[in-house]
Formats: sequence, structure tokens, C-alpha cells
Amino acid sequence: MTGQLFSESATSPRLMTSTARSALSPEAQLRFRPDAHTHLRIGFEDAGPQLFLRDVRKFGKLMLLTPGEQHPRLDKLGIDALEVSGEILFAAGRKRKVAVKNLLLDQSVLAGMGNIYVDEALCLTGVRPTRRAGRVTRREYERLAQVIRKVLGRSIETGGSSIRDYVTPDGSDGGYQFERRVYARQGEPCVECGEAIRRIVLGQRGTHYCPTCQK
Ligand SMILES: [Zn+2]
Repeated sequence: MTGQLFSESATSPRLMTSTARSALSPEAQLRFRPDAHTHLRIGFEDAGPQLFLRDVRKFGKLMLLTPGEQHPRLDKLGIDALEVSGEILFAAGRKRKVAVKNLLLDQSVLAGMGNIYVDEALCLTGVRPTRRAGRVTRREYERLAQVIRKVLGRSIETGGSSIRDYVTPDGSDGGYQFERRVYARQGEPCVECGEAIRRIVLGQRGTHYCPTCQK
């Protein structure tokens, strides 16, 4: 969701309210100062930059665990999306009637995939988000797992998505949004076939796909 975890040396004006932003000189915008939405500040013994948690909508949660400590919330998580395999997805989707998109968003199956990246990964795999999970073939799940690892890896490289107010931990804007194929592109032409990208609501989430390329 929205919210930001970033270091003290963050430079993005996105971290400020628009009024605060407009009142500042260009030089003053270069360093973040905690505001009313900054709920946590973490300092380090080595005197490195502090870390801030800023969360306007208050959805964020932070837990401090000692290394190796167990926690029920963490135990419920599925495989880390960066380590997923086709076999794991195939086993999770087998005989399931749930839409494949909803399976991929289920954090107890796959941890770390959000709405944007699921739409993008399904597009790159040619699978329609509404298809029943049990109707996705083993081969398609293989491809999907590859694409998920690639899409997330690429996103980490380019610094995430700045669709709303995401900023990277160093405070700069994420760059992945410029490579989007379907997410929030409804009505625009598909980069593969030119067909208009469609938007539907699935599992209460905005869902985007190409009606021609995704079956
Ligand atoms: Zn297409």
C-alpha cells in the first residue's frame, strides 16, 4: 500500500505535503524533516543516517524482532516471491477455482507480490487474471515463476513504482512505472498487439489485462 520507509538523507519532495513543499526553497527541499505523519525514527549506534517510517494512511506496521525470533505473522507467509518456482505455484493452484490473480495475491501462498506486479507478471505470461488457478498449466506456472522473479528483480533495480507515493529507501522516485505494460493503462494500446488494455475489478482490486494477448 502507500507509506514510506526511508533514510534521513532522502531527497524526494514527494515526502512532504504539497504546502510544505511549495513553502520550501530548492535547497531546503533536499533534506527531509519529520512531519506529523512520521511515526517512527530509528537511530543507529554507528551514527549512520536515521531511518523514518512515514505513513499518512496508517496502514503500516513495524515489528522489531531479534535475529532468529519466530512470529505468527511471519510464519503464515508463503514462499518469498523472489524464490518462487513453477512447481510451488502449480501445487498451490491445483484444483483451485479461485482466479489465478487472487491466488498470486494470497500472501500465505506467495509473499511479496502486490497488485501492480501481479497484473504485470500475468501480462508477460499471457495468462488472463480471471482464469481459474486450476486451469493454468504447469508450463504456464513455470513461465509465471520466471517472470515474477524477473519483474521483481527489475523493479528492485530501477527502484520500485511511483504510481502514487512510493519512494525508495534513499528517497528517490521509483522508475519501474515507465516499463508498465498493463497496470493503470486502461484504454491505451497493448504494446504487443495494439488492442486497448481493459480494466475490471477482481477481488476488490483494479485489474488490467490485454483481451487479445492474455487467454
Ligand atoms: Zn495485446
